Amino acid sequence: MKALNPGIAGLGTTIFETMSRLATEHGAVNLGQGFPEGLEPPGLVAAAISAFASVGNQYPPMPGLPALRRAAAEHDSRFYGLDLDWRTEVLVTSGATEALAATFLALIEPGDEVIVLEPAYDSYLPMIRRAGGVPRIVRLAAPAWSLPRRELAAAFGPRTKFLLLNSPHNPLGKVFTDDELGFVAELLARHDAYAVCDEVYEHIVLDGTHRPLMTFPGMRDRCIRIGSAGKTFSVTGWKVGIVAACPRLLGPVTKAHQYLAFSTPPALQAAVAEGLGWPNAYFTGLADTLRQRKALLSEGLAEGGFRVLPSDGTYFIVADYATLSDLPPMEFCAWLVREAGVAAVPLSAFSETPTADPLVRFCFAKTEATLAEAARRLKPLAS
Ligand code: PMP
Ligand code: GLN
Repeated sequence: MKALNPGIAGLGTTIFETMSRLATEHGAVNLGQGFPEGLEPPGLVAAAISAFASVGNQYPPMPGLPALRRAAAEHDSRFYGLDLDWRTEVLVTSGATEALAATFLALIEPGDEVIVLEPAYDSYLPMIRRAGGVPRIVRLAAPAWSLPRRELAAAFGPRTKFLLLNSPHNPLGKVFTDDELGFVAELLARHDAYAVCDEVYEHIVLDGTHRPLMTFPGMRDRCIRIGSAGKTFSVTGWKVGIVAACPRLLGPVTKAHQYLAFSTPPALQAAVAEGLGWPNAYFTGLADTLRQRKALLSEGLAEGGFRVLPSDGTYFIVADYATLSDLPPMEFCAWLVREAGVAAVPLSAFSETPTADPLVRFCFAKTEATLAEAARRLKPLAS
């Protein structure tokens, strides 16, 4: 029979799904796949339940409910001083994943180069390639994961269409500094390139502050800013994404969205619209809680013999297991789930460039009880 598309048919199952399945099989504490436990705001869930009756269950407007687009524009004004026209500069998608795919389809012409920093979130490279893009990969290096300015500058050229910038960064937990963002902004302007800014962890900054690249001089019309209610409200299963960009960029992304998902469940959109209007205390409270959880897991990992690398945001900690095992990262994770009953994700899964660094990612967005149980299971590893 005829071959299928090799770029898609040849892909493996995502590491998140694989590790979650393994965790279930072994009754392990699942700190692999990044999803929060016990953090869903009851008010948000109640708002969705009531919206199922009041807003209805049919197709909402294709670009998103006006209430949510307005709330997203107000949110961006409140937190970042951005001045977005909700009618022409805000789009609701079915998760950031759909937003990314729609953006790639809308921006990339076959042969365009796209700069991606590795380690990178798993959906970027396959979808960039399927859209016809040619990835130019620039590696970040442990332990500070600083922007490699020389290599980054060298990756830009006349075919560069955009840079994919994820900050706060999954899996590294790195928040790019103003100085690094300023450097990126200069490169984009010099090479007439765009930036696709994956900012889904914008409110999960535990040290420092998040500044969207879009707020930097000259960047307003070069950036596509992507957020996710899944992260901001700890409801990853909802898949409500938000895209902000100038009309020239958002127009084509909206065209792609109309044939990818077309719309997003209206009751969930209505609830997110309500949540985005909550006082600042909700947003700082989320970061405060996660800061405590990170401290708990860091302590547990250190007691288990891991060396925790510094990080500033997201749900994740990267830890070095060199003193515990010589196994390569994937084998170590399989061993950890079997022998210790704790699931993690190998950092190597976020890179196409082979890497044997003994680094794994743990998710700390869990209840205190779950983290205490993980710590209890990890402790014997050190002895
Ligand atoms: N980008 C990053 C960096 C992520 O970690 C995730 C998911 N967790 C996504 C995008 C996808 O977000 P969503 O669940 O809203 O599709
Ligand atoms: N973003 C989540 C993580 O990094 C997983 C999302 C998914 O499973 N697709 O773990």
